Amino acid sequence: MLKIKNLHASINGNEILKGINLSINRGETHAIMGPNGSGKSTLGNVLIGNPNYEITKGTVEYLDKDLLQLEPEERAGEGLFLSFQYPVEIPGVSMTRFLRSAMNGQREYRGLPHVSAEDFLKIMKEKRDLVKLDGNLTSRAVNEGFSGGEKKRNEIFQMALLEPTLSILDETDSGLDIDALRIVANGVNQYKSPERSFIIITHYQRLLDYIKPDYVHVLYGGKIVKSGGPELALLLEEKGYDWIKEEGEK
Ligand code: ADP
Ligand code: MG
Ligand code: MG
Repeated sequence: MLKIKNLHASINGNEILKGINLSINRGETHAIMGPNGSGKSTLGNVLIGNPNYEITKGTVEYLDKDLLQLEPEERAGEGLFLSFQYPVEIPGVSMTRFLRSAMNGQREYRGLPHVSAEDFLKIMKEKRDLVKLDGNLTSRAVNEGFSGGEKKRNEIFQMALLEPTLSILDETDSGLDIDALRIVANGVNQYKSPERSFIIITHYQRLLDYIKPDYVHVLYGGKIVKSGGPELALLLEEKGYDWIKEEGEK
């Protein structure tokens, strides 16, 4: 589904990603861990087509297409989703209107008719239940006054609504209490299928108790310095990142 080869990316002339190699097949869940500032969010942003980042080297193939040649809207149309894509508050625009327009943009790209307001409300209600999201929330302005937990649930709700093929969840666990964490993880697990893949970016092993990754990668200094199975996450939890840094310097 996704093949990243020797990807280098910069922001304001600073090279952040320094040769990422990563392949993801359909149905697989990959966790990306690593200390703060190692380039995890940069990778998510580069994949989704955030224009602030400059790709200086490397290739990304997604569903047999050259991903880097696609506009951000085209990437969304092709089923790519980044959870932190819409973190900002948008006063005066209701969640409902915002999400319906996101969905219709995607449908337009795929040559499908727009969903009616009435149908959209039905779909929304069904998906809201997945993460036990309060119905009032969707009539409020985008992210306005949402608590940390509400924002995170909202991310999973958006994912379920847009039905991406490859979902990139960036620190969807940060700031969640254990109950909210379970709800969010549950939402992801219900959404999993043999056709869908996930990149779960996280600092902590905790989320991976609930969302089982097939592979765990450690991103450090803009490179993937170690890959393994779920046991790698447990090892990191136990030993921290220092030993990886030392290995990286060897
Ligand atoms: P992570 O998500 O692993 O914590 P990031 O990808 O957010 O790391 O950041 C990687 C590095 O890129 C950091 O050193 C950060 O300071 C730098 N960086 C990220 N965004 C910007 C930006 N907009 N301008 C300048 N530097 C940035
Ligand atoms: Mg960070
Ligand atoms: Mg980050």
